[in-house]
Amino acid sequence: MSAFHADTGFELGMAVIVPESDMTIESDELLRWYAQARRDLPWRKPEVTPWQILVSEFMLQQTPVSRVEPIWLAWIERWPTPSATAAAGSAEVLRAWGKLGYPRRAKRLHECAVVISSHHDDVVPADVETLLTLPGIGAYTARAVACFAYSARVPVVDTNVRRVVARAVHGRADSPASVRDLDDVAALLPDDATAPVFSAALMELGATVCTARNPRCGICPLSVCRWRTAGFPAGTEVKRVQKYAGTDRQVRGKLMDVLRASSSPVTRAQLDVAWLTDTAQRDRALDSLLVDGLVEQTTDGRFALAGEGEIP
Ligand code: SF4
Repeated sequence: MSAFHADTGFELGMAVIVPESDMTIESDELLRWYAQARRDLPWRKPEVTPWQILVSEFMLQQTPVSRVEPIWLAWIERWPTPSATAAAGSAEVLRAWGKLGYPRRAKRLHECAVVISSHHDDVVPADVETLLTLPGIGAYTARAVACFAYSARVPVVDTNVRRVVARAVHGRADSPASVRDLDDVAALLPDDATAPVFSAALMELGATVCTARNPRCGICPLSVCRWRTAGFPAGTEVKRVQKYAGTDRQVRGKLMDVLRASSSPVTRAQLDVAWLTDTAQRDRALDSLLVDGLVEQTTDGRFALAGEGEIP
């Protein structure tokens, strides 16, 4: 099957054929919509610094906006710069991270702050290559910071963007992550200075309108959407529902809750009561926290958050 036929669904007997020239997203439509529909998120305010945007990107990985917002606001008030964050202890940072989950992100953010303050004059690098050398920064975060903090014309691809492009441009319900994603999205970016706003708008459309389960096509600003034109053919991806209850992640969270709530090292028995359902699972979770460097053991055998394991 040729790429043309695959994109149009021609060989599936569909009546509507979308010409190759429509394999794009009309930037005027998207930008007009974004200007009036964008959410008023605190990290989008003009006075927010690149570091504070970087903090928001760390926190937003796998965590919804509503949970991130209060933690981010408190965080940047307390540690507005990389050097302020670097000067904080690991345990303070882990406590401030609270219940955002995936606390390795907090540890990596702290390490990132240390490198920026010591090797980059306390200024977040602006180019993707240098950003990629920093702790905790991968392909998505590097481009998101370059784009949202420095208005770079770079493709920013998260699950929301991937979904909108799969639907509007390729006529598919969904699309698994692929090495082609960056080129795919780069080809859609406008050539002018609106490219960074286009990137933000694409992501916003996926987050608020073209959502995974309930796309609100009735209010979608895109006049051309191949998936809609094709009659919404079913996707092929089998979605795994991410459960939390009963997982090692939940147990790790329970153990971290005990440690965060204590200003001094705790005994093994204090940790043990946090999860009595499955003791082998609890032991495994504690081991993994020790391996990740989020928890330390004191010389007298108690447990503490990273950085608080020294007995005075
Ligand atoms: S028309 Fe529907 S499926 Fe297509 S991009 Fe808009 S919301 Fe998504």
